[in-house]
Amino acid sequence: MPQGKIIKALSGFYYVLTEEDQVIQCRGRGVFRKNKVTPLVGDEVVFQADNELEGYILEVFERKNELVRPPIANVDQAILVFSAVEPGFSTALLDRFLVLVEFNRIRPIICVTKMDLTTSDEKEEIHNYAKQYRQAGYEVLLTSSETETGVDQLIPMLEGEISVFAGQSGVGKSSLLNVLRPDLELKTDDISSHLGRGKHTTRHVELIKVGNGLVADTPGFSSLEFTDIEAEDLNYCFPDIEQISENCKFRGCLHLKEPKCAVKEAVETGELPQYRYEHFQQFLQEIKDRKPRY
Ligand code: GDP
Ligand code: ZN
Repeated sequence: MPQGKIIKALSGFYYVLTEEDQVIQCRGRGVFRKNKVTPLVGDEVVFQADNELEGYILEVFERKNELVRPPIANVDQAILVFSAVEPGFSTALLDRFLVLVEFNRIRPIICVTKMDLTTSDEKEEIHNYAKQYRQAGYEVLLTSSETETGVDQLIPMLEGEISVFAGQSGVGKSSLLNVLRPDLELKTDDISSHLGRGKHTTRHVELIKVGNGLVADTPGFSSLEFTDIEAEDLNYCFPDIEQISENCKFRGCLHLKEPKCAVKEAVETGELPQYRYEHFQQFLQEIKDRKPRY
């Protein structure tokens, strides 16, 4: 039986991208319904084609992950879009997005936009941050949708993966998508308006082809709350700190007042940026202060 991937779901139809790069309009058939699985965009499925255009989904494979807003399964990567200026670059916000993405076991790619608008001082500052985040183990791209600089580096990174864009309103997500897929002629304002307002509306999401990859046309991670994250999760959500902490004298070191703390030493030597350390502590506090849920 052939397999494919759902790229769009609309009015009871699932649009399945086949291995031959064809799109088949499918309905669901009993089998997976018994398991109460509702197919999602991003799902890997087994289908049966009645003809070249129509068919049935017979089986939905187990998901690697599942985002709620937008409803999409098997997300491999999140492109964290942050503008260098307008709005200005914020490590606090970036670290927050990184935690949320890492928590979902999704690979982050940091994409700084609007580099064309920076002064030379701002440029230097952004290059400095880029260096620090690369040292922390992250992929960082410096781009401009205006001059299209750096955008070509993104295309091979999308190959074979499902990616979602994330980032606050106005940073240039839709502009970036327009450079990647100019033929779609997405209106920047249209896409921006989906952002942050998706909370009370279920938005239709579609995967679009970019090069040899698939990208969601609706941004993810619009809620920046640490609702499901526990204190112990923060360690793997800060992989740089987690790695350094292997050398802390005490197991379970919280990197506060403990002696021989490798993390605090790393801040002193400059190996770990002070802001990464501070955000780790702030987020930890925020999680501890969270009201218990019933
Ligand atoms: P979104 O809300 O994240 O989708 O942001 P948009 O793509 O709608 O961009 C917000 C504004 O920033 C628009 O006026 C864009 O024209 C502008 N913009 C986006 N990217 C760039 C860029 O790389 N350079 C410049 N100069 N302007 C940009
Ligand atoms: Zn420590």
